Amino acid sequence: MKARLNCDPDSSHLSVKTHKIGVLPGEGIGPEVVDASMMVLDAIQKVELVKLEYLKGDAGAYCIEKFGTNLPPQTVEMLRMTSACLKGPMTTPEEPGSPRSVAVTLRSIFDLYANVRPARTLPNVAALKPNIDFIVVRENTEGLYSGKEFEAAPGVGVAMRVITKAASERVAKFSLDLTMKRRKRLTFVHKGNILKITDGIFKQAVFDMAKKFPDVELEDLHIDIATAQLIKRPESFDVIVTTNLFGDILSDEAAQLVGGLGVAAGANIGDHYGMFEPVHGSAPKYTGQNKVNPIATIEAVRMMLEYLGERRAADRIGRAIYRVLEEGKVLTYDLGGLAKTSDMGRAIADKVLKSA
Ligand code: NAD
Repeated sequence: MKARLNCDPDSSHLSVKTHKIGVLPGEGIGPEVVDASMMVLDAIQKVELVKLEYLKGDAGAYCIEKFGTNLPPQTVEMLRMTSACLKGPMTTPEEPGSPRSVAVTLRSIFDLYANVRPARTLPNVAALKPNIDFIVVRENTEGLYSGKEFEAAPGVGVAMRVITKAASERVAKFSLDLTMKRRKRLTFVHKGNILKITDGIFKQAVFDMAKKFPDVELEDLHIDIATAQLIKRPESFDVIVTTNLFGDILSDEAAQLVGGLGVAAGANIGDHYGMFEPVHGSAPKYTGQNKVNPIATIEAVRMMLEYLGERRAADRIGRAIYRVLEEGKVLTYDLGGLAKTSDMGRAIADKVLKSA
């Protein structure tokens, strides 16, 4: 199965298709935002010809005591039986020797090489400008996240920034395919003036792949100026592709441009699997308060349906989120309102049902 974001809008209404999806509620505020998203998923199955079978699994720091790891092998086996998964936020232990984050491990197990982070202006969500709509695609498997780090001598640390032609080419192709379904403008971001070998390979891979997409306008930006241009002219970007660490930084900057963590979602896409998550973490101080914004997680399930080829269902959820925000009656604290997590989930689910 190839990555299928933004595929044929009419393919989903012909027959009822059952998709097995993994659900990892996570911890902290995770179960609350995942529950709110399930209200929306339950609603969409009543109004669209789409059927979802949920396989729930354990993952997160709470598993370490019971299973000795934050990602038990039985959870990985369960996910292998699914086409995609929704991953709630999890706490990442920081002590030396503790396991890697669940997201990083899943990206590596399922070779989820493209991290896709949309940034779009939404009604009643404070954004820097009113007309922002771009996507950051971050290479997800190598760069400074290769895990190859060592202490060469006492007090001398070395991290290896691994960039390969093959990984650069596939993320370049993914981004070019994506922009062909949008405004056909690809910005590639690097630091080739300093990192001449590693970013030289990345740049060349993008240039070579772009030759197969003559309709796409290419823009070449260094990472330092890219961070500034995102503030100065965010509305001019369509798709941005970059290496792992630069993508990590740019995508968080992008989330902030359009209203922050409560509404930011990410997709992790490979050739055979997709993992979808809110960008935020487990926000321990809000655990159990039914207070945080579930839109980031609902937006993650919208992207998951799009990936599964259920474009009509995905668009219906997108419109429901938009209308609830536009009306401005049900807003969580981060958007200046008093609504609870479950109120927001229910309001969006109701809009999905009423739009039938
Ligand atoms: P966080 O994202 O959990 O929360 C930071 C602050 O952002 C919160 O205190 C809150 O004010 C706000 N916020 C977060 N989510 C929100 C929402 N849905 N609605 C409204 N406001 C929201 O970041 P943190 O406190 O630095 O991290 C907590 C834990 O989560 C850490 O263990 C960290 O490693 C982990 N983490 C996990 C992921 C993930 O699972 N993908 C991502 C980031 C952080």
